[in-house]
Amino acid sequence: MEDKKLYCTECGYKFVPRSKHKRCPYCGKEGSLIKAPTSQDIIDEVAFEDSERLVKENFK
Ligand SMILES: [Zn+2]
Repeated sequence: MEDKKLYCTECGYKFVPRSKHKRCPYCGKEGSLIKAPTSQDIIDEVAFEDSERLVKENFK
């Protein structure tokens, strides 16, 4: 499974890491790399926001 991409929040560069990266190989920014969200992560996040909104609406 080769779905572990890293994403640079600085320049938006996405890549599959071959080793441990501390800085973006494209722009060289340190500490800007996060795991690129998979489509399942995005679905989970949207579902979470929806449930959070529902809770807020129920408390009005
Ligand atoms: Zn970058």
